[in-house]
Amino acid sequence: MSQFFTSRLSALRPYTPGEQPKDTVYIKLNTNESPFPPSESVQRAVADEAARLQLYSDPECRDLNRTAADFFGVGTDQILMTNGSDEILNFAFMAFGDEQNPFAFPSISYGFYPVFAALNRVPAKPIPLGKDFRINVSDYKEIGANIVIANPNAPTGLYLGLDEIEFLLKSNRDHVVVIDEAYIDFGGESAISLIPKYDNLLVTRTFSKSYSLAGARLGFGIGSPSLIADLNTIKYSTNPYNVNRMTMAAGKAALLDSAYYREGCDKIMKTRERTREALLALGFTVTDSKTNFLFAAHDKIGGKELYLALKQNGILVRHFDLPEIERYNRITIGTDEQMDILLETIKSILKGI
Ligand code: PMP
Repeated sequence: MSQFFTSRLSALRPYTPGEQPKDTVYIKLNTNESPFPPSESVQRAVADEAARLQLYSDPECRDLNRTAADFFGVGTDQILMTNGSDEILNFAFMAFGDEQNPFAFPSISYGFYPVFAALNRVPAKPIPLGKDFRINVSDYKEIGANIVIANPNAPTGLYLGLDEIEFLLKSNRDHVVVIDEAYIDFGGESAISLIPKYDNLLVTRTFSKSYSLAGARLGFGIGSPSLIADLNTIKYSTNPYNVNRMTMAAGKAALLDSAYYREGCDKIMKTRERTREALLALGFTVTDSKTNFLFAAHDKIGGKELYLALKQNGILVRHFDLPEIERYNRITIGTDEQMDILLETIKSILKGI
């Protein structure tokens, strides 16, 4: 830290992204990327747009917003596009959080939530998970705080039904409830349908997983026009051109090509179930994931030990050092071939112990 770094943030512990090593070619199952490339129409749209990069991008994202509004059945004033969904989440902490309005979230969830809280000096209220990593929505009843919940949750993969989401919204009408749907396309039902009933609901989404665009950095929020207007105030106070031209073109083309992406998600879900069965047969405990990853532990080998052994064999998975989940690894679903190699490697690791 330099002598110039503000003391206000000296205790800030930044988020640690999944490793992106360049030393070896790994089978990369550690950052929940899609194993499939973007569709050809997306690749063409990006290449076409490159010829116009001398011009700023449209700060209102009109073209992409229109396409997304039609796709999700909402008004264009109900959407805000951002640089990944990380940005809309940060905007939500900035816009709605303060000393009187903390943010509550599950103590085991997306690691960026406590970082956004600390960065924006918003008090954080971590709520412990219940049995088997379940989120008990009754723990959030009239909690006197904004709420952010990843549904399905990460890294557990577990999903809350819309009735449970509605309970959160109903019992916290005076606070914003952010439902982070980064993984909703892998088997869950979106809370977007609840937006007309609840003006305190903000749903955040990403193109990084189900739309194979992690490298383009595109996310968005959907909510009531007044919530979106507040978030726009933050956007225009930080970075009006937060989404670049090529990414906007990619997002629009991706939504127009949704059949291609639906097929990819269906394949990933099938591969997930097959891999889950195989891991259970090998003696793993595996949560019932509705995402593009599995969360698995084995009582014969520690989580870190397995992570390191897989790494040595050219396979990267994600291990978290938190005591409650240190026995587990988060394994992104890759292609069938990649998962076969993973399973064979795990078998030989288990044989050797
Ligand atoms: N929410 C959750 C639960 C995530 O796991 C991620 C991915 N790291 C994000 C949000 C952010 O995704 P992105 O910024 O790529 O849209």
